[in-house]
Amino acid sequence: MSAAPINLYDLTREQLRALLVRWDFSPVHAARLWNYLYLALADSLSAEAMPELPEKVRARLLKETRLGLLPTARETDSSDGFTRKYLLSLTDGEAIETVLMRFTGRVTACVSSQVGCAMGCVFCATGQMGYTRHLTPGEIVAQAVHVARALRPKPTPEKCHLLNDTSRPRLRNIVLMGMGEPLHNYDAVMHAIDILRDEAGLALGAERITLSTVGVVPGILRLAKEKRPLNLAVSLHAATQAGRAALVPVATKWPLDELMAACRTYSETTGRKIFYEWTLIEGKNDSAEDARAVGELLRGLPAQVNLIPLNPTTGYAGAPTHSAAAKNFQHILASEFKLPSTVRQRRGIDIAAGCGQLAVLE
Ligand code: SAH
Ligand code: SF4
Repeated sequence: MSAAPINLYDLTREQLRALLVRWDFSPVHAARLWNYLYLALADSLSAEAMPELPEKVRARLLKETRLGLLPTARETDSSDGFTRKYLLSLTDGEAIETVLMRFTGRVTACVSSQVGCAMGCVFCATGQMGYTRHLTPGEIVAQAVHVARALRPKPTPEKCHLLNDTSRPRLRNIVLMGMGEPLHNYDAVMHAIDILRDEAGLALGAERITLSTVGVVPGILRLAKEKRPLNLAVSLHAATQAGRAALVPVATKWPLDELMAACRTYSETTGRKIFYEWTLIEGKNDSAEDARAVGELLRGLPAQVNLIPLNPTTGYAGAPTHSAAAKNFQHILASEFKLPSTVRQRRGIDIAAGCGQLAVLE
């Protein structure tokens, strides 16, 4: 008797096929099961939810596997209606955040990669809570399934069995910018991405998956070597080693010059630009001088800067940069360095939409 039941969301399509074949079932049933999981977005293994699965297959699945959907512990909408934040429960009693964002017709899920985070960035709610554990691939996949299910209109009885109903709004974008450092949990994250990208499943395009890292140098170099097709965002926040180390403690382990060398290698090997994130904190890293320093640092690199006004957290005294200063920062990057940038709208701040803030409230 195997120990813990297998979480079906942990398995790639090929692994699911291999499992059923090992149990002496036809691969046809594996394909049906996969469709129930990722096209029908079934909520159980029951005959009602998966009518075309033979009873002997269902019995074995019920005995040895589980459907690792994550129950909602709490759900909050921002007042502008563009952001919905879920606190999702894990089987061991922990909880993680997943955010559904709908901006200008794009639907994006912001998913977590760990419970807490070991990197300790001073302004980050997740960093302030410390590290508990890595998420499994299935727990990462289940967050995307959760959002995809939330987007789906309530099925009418006639439509229940239509596996290829394409009329529903689809989840198209994923950002790994929730709780945790994805490159600290590299294998599970990449395994989850493989499942999310499967064209016979959720079919998320590689160009619509963005992974954000605090600057885990070995992880960036591994991504470059494996030529993983996804977008990379690197959280910079400061353009000097000392300035960065004050905000991002792991900068002492992976110093700025090593980080920039890894970013250069990444862009050279993959031909991809990197998104550099910069949390704007009033009086800390938002001056004209700071803008010129980042312009110099990124000179010659394929880059875009994403400016994020600080979301205040209880554990950090800093304040967000005013929008005029943010605009000036942007103007310097554009006019003096031809460096494109965006300022992330602080939508949903009224539901504590900063990274990890809902879990902290809980
Ligand atoms: N661990 C990864 C991804 C999660 S955080 C990383 O650090 O990149 C995603 C982004 O949100 C990072 O750029 C992070 O610095 C930023 N962030 C975290 N807390 C924030 C806050 N309170 N206000 C604004 N940005 C924040
Ligand atoms: Fe971790 Fe990212 Fe928060 Fe830093 S900003 S503590 S790396 S989640």
